[in-house]
Amino acid sequence: MIYIKKPEEIETLQEGGRRHAYILSEVAKIVKPGVSTQDLEDLARTLIAEGGDTASFLNYTPQGADRPYPAALCVSINDEIVHGIPNEDPRVLDEGDIVSLDLGLTHEGLITDSAITVGVGKIDPEDKKLMEYCKEALHLGIKAARGGGHVGDIGYAIETFARAHKINLCEGLSGHGVGYKVHEDPFVENVGDKGKGDLLKPGMVIAIEPMMTFGTTKTILLDDGYTYITKDGSTAVHFEHTIAITDGEAIILTK
Ligand code: MG
Ligand code: MG
Repeated sequence: MIYIKKPEEIETLQEGGRRHAYILSEVAKIVKPGVSTQDLEDLARTLIAEGGDTASFLNYTPQGADRPYPAALCVSINDEIVHGIPNEDPRVLDEGDIVSLDLGLTHEGLITDSAITVGVGKIDPEDKKLMEYCKEALHLGIKAARGGGHVGDIGYAIETFARAHKINLCEGLSGHGVGYKVHEDPFVENVGDKGKGDLLKPGMVIAIEPMMTFGTTKTILLDDGYTYITKDGSTAVHFEHTIAITDGEAIILTK
């Protein structure tokens, strides 16, 4: 079931999204060689608490998982695509690492979801290019998300861009509705056909999140039950925004 949010709920989500963007950018600022994933988690938790909000991912059990997620933040390094756990066997960041930071923030009962990928110190130009492409793909997906259109329009825009630049989308991982719960209907896939899928209606709130690599589309889920990695060890990047559908251009809530 797709929940349509009322204008006042969109306003709350917009305030939550502003806080969300601030926290992610503050965490990104401390990403440096020698910093541990635990440090990133700690800063995220401190900033969330300072705002009087809560971490949506902490203790959340997604469908199919056999234990609750143990952290506020997902920190996924290099070949890790998404859902890397920062506070179990924390890792120390190295020069050249590519780090995705994914956060869910609950503000006054409503959830926003957003992710960015940042480099640690001096990074490989190919990784830099992949990050730029992924950011662009996300914005093309957002542009395609208009009231009266269809969910497939979003995947079509992202997939077409990826193909043109010979980038692969990580298989089986997709965006989703968000707001009252971390994951709501509909699935927002990164591949699709124009005019297909659920109708996009004003008031729908969705997270769009391309996950990209120059390597294989194939993924592996690690034994921790959360971390997805690329099967061939290639670097993966991830950008995500929560947006609200309107009659015209969508509102980016997490900026
Ligand atoms: Mg996310
Ligand atoms: Mg998401």
